[in-house]
Amino acid sequence: MKKLILNFKSKETKKIKNPKNFLGGKGANLSEMGKMGLPVPPGFTISTEVCKLFYKEKKRLGKKIIEQIKKELKVVEKDVSKKFGDNKNPLLLSVRSGARVSMPGMMDTILNLGLNDKTVEALSKKTSNGRFAKDSYRRFIQMYGNVVMGVESYHFEELIENYKLTKGVLLDTDLDENDWDGLIDDFKKTVKEKSGKDFPQDVFDQLLGAVSAVFLSWESNRAKVYRKLNQIPSEWGTAVNVQSMVFGNMGNDCATGVVFTRNPSDGSNDIYGEYLINAQGEDVVAGTRTPQYITKKARKSAGVDALSMEESMPKVYKELDKILTKLEKHYKDMQDVEFTVENQKLWMLQTRSGKRTSKSAVKIAVDMVKEKLISKKEAVLRIDPNSLDTLLHPTLDEKTKINVIANGLPASPGASSGKVVFDSDEAERLNDMMQDTILVRVETSPEDIHGMHAAKGILTARGGMTSHAAVVARGMGRPCVSGSSEIEINYDEKIFKTADQTVKEGDVITIDGSTGRVILGNVPTVQPEISGDFSKLMSWADSFRKLKVRTNSETPLDTKTAREFGAEGIGLCRTEHMFFDEERILSVREMILSKTKEDRAKALDKLLPHQKKDFMEIFKIMSGLPVTVRLLDPPLHEFLPRTEKEIGEVASVVNLPAKEIENRINELHEQNPMLGHRGCRLGISFPEIYEMQCRAIFEALCELKKNKIKSAFPEIMIPLVSTEMEIRLMKELVINTAKNVQNENKVKIDFLVGTMIELPRAAIKARDIAKHAEFFSFGTNDLTQTTFGISRDDSGKFLNDYIENKIFSIDPFVSIDDGVGDLVKIAVEQGKKENKTIKLGICGEHGGDPKSIEFCSKAGLNYVSCSPYRVPVARLAAAQSEIQKKN
Ligand code: PEP
Ligand code: MG
Repeated sequence: MKKLILNFKSKETKKIKNPKNFLGGKGANLSEMGKMGLPVPPGFTISTEVCKLFYKEKKRLGKKIIEQIKKELKVVEKDVSKKFGDNKNPLLLSVRSGARVSMPGMMDTILNLGLNDKTVEALSKKTSNGRFAKDSYRRFIQMYGNVVMGVESYHFEELIENYKLTKGVLLDTDLDENDWDGLIDDFKKTVKEKSGKDFPQDVFDQLLGAVSAVFLSWESNRAKVYRKLNQIPSEWGTAVNVQSMVFGNMGNDCATGVVFTRNPSDGSNDIYGEYLINAQGEDVVAGTRTPQYITKKARKSAGVDALSMEESMPKVYKELDKILTKLEKHYKDMQDVEFTVENQKLWMLQTRSGKRTSKSAVKIAVDMVKEKLISKKEAVLRIDPNSLDTLLHPTLDEKTKINVIANGLPASPGASSGKVVFDSDEAERLNDMMQDTILVRVETSPEDIHGMHAAKGILTARGGMTSHAAVVARGMGRPCVSGSSEIEINYDEKIFKTADQTVKEGDVITIDGSTGRVILGNVPTVQPEISGDFSKLMSWADSFRKLKVRTNSETPLDTKTAREFGAEGIGLCRTEHMFFDEERILSVREMILSKTKEDRAKALDKLLPHQKKDFMEIFKIMSGLPVTVRLLDPPLHEFLPRTEKEIGEVASVVNLPAKEIENRINELHEQNPMLGHRGCRLGISFPEIYEMQCRAIFEALCELKKNKIKSAFPEIMIPLVSTEMEIRLMKELVINTAKNVQNENKVKIDFLVGTMIELPRAAIKARDIAKHAEFFSFGTNDLTQTTFGISRDDSGKFLNDYIENKIFSIDPFVSIDDGVGDLVKIAVEQGKKENKTIKLGICGEHGGDPKSIEFCSKAGLNYVSCSPYRVPVARLAAAQSEIQKKN
């Protein structure tokens, strides 16, 4: 049987192709640190393969696996000269999960495993610290009782709280050895009462129970939610790391901490982290005690008195500092490290690539190129394109007068406002009703993950920069202010109090995750600019990519924003969106409801100057770049009046009774408007509409040219074509109109006429269509809709079921499906057969999705087009797909 359990020191890890897939991220890094000669407590990793076997064998550990565990345990015993379950010199273990990618707080951990009524006495004797031994034992019963035996934690907490009340003390640290002895008995009784089973005294049973529990936690609800949010496949499974315990809670020469090699919030090259003297790891992450800073600099800049580790443990700090430098050089990336100090001896418990804000990710990548740690290509590959979204997030408008009611830690940048909610379910409920919320919690736990996702921001009263709230919010790109000790939360009354304010559930607050401010009311925000490190990284990306990036835009404002974000033209100008303006909609309604050609012409005449003006502005902003203008596409009834008032308004303009308007509305009603009278079908039925639009385009171009204003290069696009004849007729219409306008103005204009490919027939018959089209733009929204036969307007109601049942791994309207992709490939191939130089692009929503962009790059498209805020995302994704092609 293949070795499925590997000691950290095992040489076999070298032979494994993808150590992280087999050993999980934590296991692979522990073994790597061991090989680098760093102080890692001995242990072994039970691989992800075992997790798969566990589920295959009805959630049981097989005999052979148990044998391998026993064998590896012997090696550890030898290494540390202790014995598991020994009554004199017992080995204690930690059992931790470790998936391929880190899932902070999502799965279970058990510490102090191997303690029982006998070994606890041995530990007490050996350390001459009875209080420590008993405290460790009760923590173990509590953790094990909860994680493995399913006894809710609060039962234990209540016992402690009640005991403290009777004893008249406030803090856990006020309890002595005898107190813990009594509580240990009570804990064991609670376990028996609640689970029906005795707390196991056999240490090997403890170990197998813990390993199984970690595997089971892979399928816990919170882990499932996290996987769904982060697109982590459930087949991956988790590994389990079994490691000899080191103690940070044996006295004041002990400590435990979490440290980043650079600042995860702003990316500056300073060690950033927190530690707690005389504590175990969970205390730092859980946020139950407020941790102290690692460096003196960080402590001073926070204006805090509690000594930093640099000051309180200078020797250990120096050693840690050296190790951090070594780790960064080795991994060539910012590391997030967990350590423990046991009686002044430093132990490294974990290293991993540190989660960071988008801002710091960009800064770190650019800095590391400057430091010659990584290449420009590597820097470009380091940044998750989707994460740029948060960099483009708005910040508070500093000109606004604000009422800061509290301050906390700037845990995750960005500013957001919303109604205060104190409960994750409520955040989710209001989000479903399109209401913005700020989730306010004393501290968050993994159970809050859905609420954190649904809320626009998170505010906690406790916990540091590495608390659950901070880490998870940064990963999600949600603004977060953590550890605001200035707020006092009362869940029962659904209020929080600050020094001089009481804020109720439903009141609106704003949080600024970049500064840590909590503000009463809604504060306006300003849009960010691309500059500094961000623009440097983007310029590197641009130098590597071949795919052009355009934008979908039809307003001057969006067009300007997109150009500032680096758009290289417009790939889709949806002209119907130009009609929604209040002033124009009436003329549009007049046009639609006209019964005769003459009446329609009158209405169109009113619309023409508006369209022309819009085009002029857009052509000016995109000067020198291509602009694809799509002629009218949507079903006409979208513009119809609905209310009595609207019907009355149209009736008076067209001089008809309201009743007649209502009849006309009924006539225009369609059962399936998406498959009805829309796209070029409108141009076939009402050529005068398309003529007016073309006239507006060419008149705008002529006027710019006459005034010697540099314009964009026009590409006229016909929507929803499925046959050769449709494009042929519509192209003739465009060319004739263009000719007329050019002759009238005595100006010559160059332009292209092309089509959208958004129907399966068009894709399959692309060769015929390419006889007339000078470009294809893939409308993958409609192409997805018509390929699947799934309505893009109604899919939201059932897509979740499809994802939950693994029919779709992702919404095909978000990321391109491979069947739809095949149609794109056919169209590219067929189109090129007819016209080798045909211009190819995509303008469906997929044009801004990194995975789909990779597909477009491979399929040989010339450009992608996306909404203005996705432009930088697309630029980066296009560069990454090009770099990866060559690797
Ligand atoms: C498309 O169908 O992909 C497209 C871009 O057009 P629209 O979304 O306007 O239908
Ligand atoms: Mg479409």
